[in-house]
Amino acid sequence: MNENTLMPSYMKQFSCIGGDCEDTCCAGWKITLNKEVYKEYKKTKNLKLKNKLKNSMRMETEGTKTKNDYAYFILDDDKKCPMLTSESWCSIQQELGEGALSPTCATYPRVLNHVSEQFELSANVSCPEIARLALFNEKGIDFEQIDYEVSGNWSLARLINTNDTSNYQHLFWSVRMFSIEITQNRKLELCNRLIILGLFIDRIQKEIDAGNTVDIETIVADYRNKMSDVGYINAIQNIAVNTDVQVGIIMEILQFRHKQSATSKRYDQVFNEMKIGYGVEQIDTPSSKLFETYKQNFMVYYAPYMNRHEYVLENYIVNTIFSKAFPSDLSIIFKEYTAIMIYYALMKIHLVGVAGCHNGLDHDIVLRTIQSISKTMEHNAHFARSVIDLLENNKFNSLAHIATLIKDINVTTNIT
Ligand code: SF4
Repeated sequence: MNENTLMPSYMKQFSCIGGDCEDTCCAGWKITLNKEVYKEYKKTKNLKLKNKLKNSMRMETEGTKTKNDYAYFILDDDKKCPMLTSESWCSIQQELGEGALSPTCATYPRVLNHVSEQFELSANVSCPEIARLALFNEKGIDFEQIDYEVSGNWSLARLINTNDTSNYQHLFWSVRMFSIEITQNRKLELCNRLIILGLFIDRIQKEIDAGNTVDIETIVADYRNKMSDVGYINAIQNIAVNTDVQVGIIMEILQFRHKQSATSKRYDQVFNEMKIGYGVEQIDTPSSKLFETYKQNFMVYYAPYMNRHEYVLENYIVNTIFSKAFPSDLSIIFKEYTAIMIYYALMKIHLVGVAGCHNGLDHDIVLRTIQSISKTMEHNAHFARSVIDLLENNKFNSLAHIATLIKDINVTTNIT
């Protein structure tokens, strides 16, 4: 059914490239089936699918089984969905049509939100084709409101009621639009835009925590003025970078991630290249040699690419703000900002390491790195929450600390 839908313009160009895709949607994931789809698959009369489906589906155990999380596919030895053809197309879609897919498979890589009585459609950069369309547009991500056919089989990720004043959610549009405006302000380096974004979000969080009526127009006007105030910008630019602390904390987050399961071959390749780039066998306690290698890689191999293509990471942040419907919960807006900054910091530390391995970066390397990190980490629902807990437990969760995580080395200063 056609719906008035807000979306980034790149969505109009997206269609799955199936067998030509360098990854597959489901590699390494748990592919869940709801009760209705499971029952339909069980009674299929399609001779090509019947036995395969019977042997590949398992019911969730009693106690964990819900209507939406009712069964799953057992992945093959390559951690791929057993229903993929040898050309990597989905055999269920080929044989029974898109309407027969479970909502999880039908929706991916799309993200469907419902905000202020209208649908919003975007997509995850964990899909290589979306990463190509969303990240590598030099002009930046823009948005359109169009009449679009929204499938009834797509699952809704978030429902946001922006009329609710009791929990400050009425501030949603002003905060989100200004957050995107700050992120796309190319007069400043991206890391400095993200610090100003943090200052803006921190101010709102403090007003909310104090139970104040938030005068959002005044706050937005104040930060817009600050962004054209040379003294203010200089002060942000001159915040000192403690690279050793930055690298140490992000490496700790990485170690924490590696204690959890679920990865993918593409991410394993990126992880190994990062270790080669840093000259280490394992990501364990960072040494002074690793700190030095980080600084050299950053200046010699990472910065030359990023100075010309910083829009790639800008597009990543803008896409994340939109697809996660930031701020989806104003009462914890600073935590939501922190989660986005953690992913940004993780992307950067991988890219700096991988740049060292390849003696530089190009679009293909950057795409593979961002896409595989997104797939391995952003799709793990508990990961960001656990990292925020980790930062809170170590009292490393103030804006000053988050700024330490995201600030770039100034390549014009002498770092020795
Ligand atoms: S990851 Fe994207 S392009 Fe690749 S098969 Fe899945 S939807 Fe298609």
